[in-house]
Amino acid sequence: MRYLFTNRFGGVSEGAFSSLNLAFHVTDNSLHVKANREILRKQMGVRVVVFMEQVHGDRIVHIEESEQTPTCDAMITNQKGIALAVMVADCVPILFYDAVHEAIGVAHAGREGSRLGIGVKCLDAMEEAFGTRASSVQIFMGPSIGACCYEVGQEVSEGFEGFLHVKNERLFLNLQTYNYKAFLEQGVLPEHLNVSSLCTCCHESYFSYRREKITGRFAGVICL
Ligand SMILES: [Zn+2]
Repeated sequence: MRYLFTNRFGGVSEGAFSSLNLAFHVTDNSLHVKANREILRKQMGVRVVVFMEQVHGDRIVHIEESEQTPTCDAMITNQKGIALAVMVADCVPILFYDAVHEAIGVAHAGREGSRLGIGVKCLDAMEEAFGTRASSVQIFMGPSIGACCYEVGQEVSEGFEGFLHVKNERLFLNLQTYNYKAFLEQGVLPEHLNVSSLCTCCHESYFSYRREKITGRFAGVICL
């Protein structure tokens, strides 16, 4: 298994997308995005990297053949030579690895995805497809917007009670802890939960929608 989280360096995009932007939908030059995705594919050493058309939902797709871009927010596979990618610019990119059954998954956990339980649902899908057990899966949560910067309105805070911090009468959401607790309750072991402490909004090495609005996407990528 190999995995990585890209940052904004090492690509060919310019301006707001400088330089390793991996998303077509953000109005970057599509030739640059193609070149960037090729850089990533070579770096992973795989035949293909499968991306998703992400829609902040909870649909999970089992990837068996690679020439597709499914509309979903999580994917799973046990095929070698296919890397799965989740694109983000503040949302939590989650990677899953089941060493026992040689299977992987990725999930896109923004506020809505997290509320829908996309991470736990991805784990359930791996259990159904491959026999993955929560107690043996390893999970990697990459750089994402931290509670230091993730201010939310009262109207979207429902369901996140216990994960909100009040600072100067403003509400801040901790998405990382929300997902971490959900995995723990599911039976994932704390020593198998790896959570990046990097806040994308604080660290300019990463694209951040909250900080820049017009910006690129970096990715979490995993393959067998
Ligand atoms: Zn921050």
